[in-house]
Parts: sequence; structure tokens; C-alpha cells
Amino acid sequence: MANETNNFAEIISHCKEYGYIFQSSELYDGLAAVYDYGQMGAQLKKNLRDAWWKSMTQLNENSIVGIDAAIFMHPTVWKASGHVDSFSDPMIDNKDSNKRYRVDHLIEGFAEELLAISKEQLAIGNVQLAEEKEKLANDVLAKMDLLIAATDYAGLKMLIEENKIKCGISKTCNWTEIREFNLMFNTKIGALAEEADTIYLRPETAQGIFVNFLNVQKSGRMKIPFGIAQTGKAFRNEIVARQFIFRMREFEQMEMQFFIRPGTQKEWYNYWKDERKKWHESIGIPAEKLRFHDHVKLAHYADAALDIEFEFPFGWKELEGIHSRTDFDLTQHATFSKKKIQYFDNDLNEEGKPYGNYTPYVLETSVGLDRLFLTVLSLAYQNENWKKEDGTDDSRVVLKIPAKLAPTKLAILPLLKKDGLPEIAKELLESCKQSFHCFYEEKDAIGKRYRRMDAIGTPFCVTIDHQTKEDNTVTIRYRDDMRQERIALNDVKSLVDSLVN
Ligand code: ATP
Repeated sequence: MANETNNFAEIISHCKEYGYIFQSSELYDGLAAVYDYGQMGAQLKKNLRDAWWKSMTQLNENSIVGIDAAIFMHPTVWKASGHVDSFSDPMIDNKDSNKRYRVDHLIEGFAEELLAISKEQLAIGNVQLAEEKEKLANDVLAKMDLLIAATDYAGLKMLIEENKIKCGISKTCNWTEIREFNLMFNTKIGALAEEADTIYLRPETAQGIFVNFLNVQKSGRMKIPFGIAQTGKAFRNEIVARQFIFRMREFEQMEMQFFIRPGTQKEWYNYWKDERKKWHESIGIPAEKLRFHDHVKLAHYADAALDIEFEFPFGWKELEGIHSRTDFDLTQHATFSKKKIQYFDNDLNEEGKPYGNYTPYVLETSVGLDRLFLTVLSLAYQNENWKKEDGTDDSRVVLKIPAKLAPTKLAILPLLKKDGLPEIAKELLESCKQSFHCFYEEKDAIGKRYRRMDAIGTPFCVTIDHQTKEDNTVTIRYRDDMRQERIALNDVKSLVDSLVN
């Protein structure tokens, strides 16, 4: 059986080498925390987006419809939503290096270092020291959660000082006071600056859904409960931009706002919590790599919130947020726009009377497409090596992306560039390309071509050889276990179709 390693730095360089992800503006030395998706990455990202979109707008037993709102919105939207006043993170600067840190990241980084030391000490038998370090890390994190929940910045500063948490660059503890830093990007709209007004690049897609609630409800004759789904770009001036595409300044969200009757939010919160975890499992994420993390500090709009976390190569981190947003957003937009945003519910309540007019409550599911991409890729990447039957070593790097998500489904490979083999191969390509994404390649030795398909994650390769001309059979090779078998040329399309759809 093959040995496997799965290393984050290797994944990042693999992404670049095989056209998955490039640093933005790399030609000009890059732009921090902004990335471009290459020819393979763009397709994988699209497949993930499509899978989400389909599960929300097509497969859901409750009615959920999709919209595509603009990135630019009226600036008052962001006043109403609370983003102008409170979409900020507590920050602290190191006076010697001038480096700015998000306070929670600085403290979490310190706790991670303690846990790493604890692991090292355990490995060399220093159990007592290992336990002490682990306890300290957990105590610090627990204290941090409480202080953040209480917005106690003096307490947080004291926690940093008491633990002598240092700046990674200057290695000093010379810290400023903790301050708030708004994460929204702004720009001017209109041709003349004097006439122009400041507008924001949306920091989340959700507000485009809230301001369209009545449009969709009325034009689609939607009955509560119903959902509105949307995918699209969001922008945040993240201070701590690290961990590759995990935290970007321009990223994509897939959000769904589910509009419900007030008082039913607990029930729907539990429903969506389970549904979303099941969905992640359905696209191939193992259950043991997912967990729920309840929020201690609730955002200004929420009465309950949790994260679905994934065990990334750098630890457990948020993949998706589930938020019970009450009627906060619709009420705020009603107040700021001075318009009535209500729903008339003519279903009958327990007393046999219509529920009547109310402002719906909202249950939100919000997943980052880039984080989902990183999740899938970090599970898929395998660096395998094994002993062959003759005792020599062999190895390969393979992306075991689930077949239904893989960017290319089938590689069609004539063994030689002559003897009529390319003609048969191209005929197969013609018959398959309407149904799924194929890749045609006639250069290089077949083994080399297989390895390249492994590296970009193509689940199936079909080789056309001389025997094909005699008996109309081809060799199909399966990426995950490298198994090969002969099947009828005429069966290739239906077999691959059944495995990818
Ligand atoms: P974090 O605590 O990691 O900053 P958040 O709680 O601010 O995330 P939400 O506002 O709940 O995130 O956004 C919903 C989802 O959008 C997140 O679960 C995440 O998948 C994604 N997301 C948020 N910020 C970023 C970012 N800077 N880069 C990539 N994805 C992001």
C-alpha cells in the first residue's frame, strides 16, 4: 500500500505548477492576499459553485430561489446593516516593527506555539511540561473568548502583556493600545470627484438579498418559509492575510437567507445546521474532519450562531457560518429606507386566525467558496510512494478530487500519434464532449501522461491502442487505485457519465 504525505506548502506549490491558483499580479511581485484561479482552478471552483447552487435552488424540498445582486449598493445599506459602525476587528500594533495584528489572531498564534511545544515535549517524554503548556494554551484561549465577548480591550491587552506575547518580526512586547479597524473598502462613484459619493465594495453578499426581499417575494409569489440564495464576490480589508486562499481580501461567498415565521428560528437553526453539515459530507468531506463551533460572542444581528469548522492542514478553522439573524436586517432596512418591509401570512394559527402581517426572521447559511476549494484540495492532495513488485521505488503526486467535482473528467489518450489511433480518439472526444469535460493528449509516453492526469486530478484516462482497431476495446485507467481494465469503446461515454453525474 502506498505511503501518503499531505503537506500544506507542497499543496500551495502544486496549485501553481498545475494551473490551479496563481498569486495575483505575480508579474509585479504579487498583491498580498489576492489570488487568481488558473485554468484548472477556475473549473473546479465553478463545479463547486454549481454543486452548491443546484443543492440550494434545484434539489431543496423547500422553495429556494437564486438571485445575482450587484456588488455596488447604495451607501445607506451599509449604515443600516451596521457595517459602517461596527464591521471592525480589534487590532494592536507593535511599535518596533509597526506590524498590525488582529488581537484574536495574535493570541491564537501564541496558543498554537504552546501546543506545538507541548507536542514536542510529549514526544521526548517530558509529560509534566507537556501538560503544563497545553493547559496554559487552553486557559489563554478560554480567557480570550470571554474578554472578546465582553469587548474588554483593556483585559485583552493585559492578557497579551501577562503572557509576554511577542511580535513575530521585532520579537518585542512593545504594543500600542487595542483599536477598532473597519474592514470595508470604499471608493467613489460618478465621474467627478466633487459630485461623487463614497460607496463600499460589499463585505458580504447577504445585504443584496435583504434589500431584494420584497421584490423576490412579490414577483415570485413566494410563501414563507422560503429562501433566497446568491453567490458572488465580497471584499474585506483583512489585516492578517495569511494561509493562502483561506483569508483573502477579495473572495467569493455562497449565501442563503431563509425567511421564516418569528418564533420558529430555533427549529430552522437546527435544521440548517444539520443540512449544511450533511451537504459537506455529500461532496466527499469526511464527517470526522468537520465539527460545529458555537459562537460565544454573538454578532449584533444574531440570536444564535455557529461555525462549521474543517480540519485544515493548519488546524480547525471556520468553513461556513450558520446565523440566526432574527428580524434585524429587514427591520433596519425598513427604518433606514422608511418603507414597509413586511409579509402577510394567511396561514392559520392555532386559534384558527391568519398569522397576519409580520417582519420575517432570517436563518442564514454562509460558506466561503475559496475556503471550500481549499478544503477539497487539501483532502485531495496525496504524495504517494510505494515499492514495486521488482523491489524498486515508485511515487506519484495525485489529486483525488471526487469525480463529480474534478475539473476534467476524462483524458483521451491515443497510444501513438499514427496508425489511425488519433482518429478513433478524436471520434470518442466528439461523442463525449457535450456530456462532460474531456482532455485530449497525444504527446509523450503513456506513463508520463497518466502521471500528469493524476497531478491535475483527472479521475479517468482512456487509452486507444492497436487492439482497439481489432476489437473495439480500450483501456480505462482509474486514478485513485491506478487499476486498468479493458472495456468496449462504445461503453466509455455511458460509464464515465454514470461515474461523474
Ligand atoms: P473569520 O472569523 O474567519 O474572519 P467570519 O466569521 O468573518 O470569518 P463570515 O462573515 O461569517 O466570516 O463569512 C462567511 C464565510 O465567508 C466564512 O465562513 C468564510 O468561509 C468566508 N470568508 C469570510 N472572510 C473570508 C476571507 N477573508 N477570505 C476567504 N473567505 C472568507
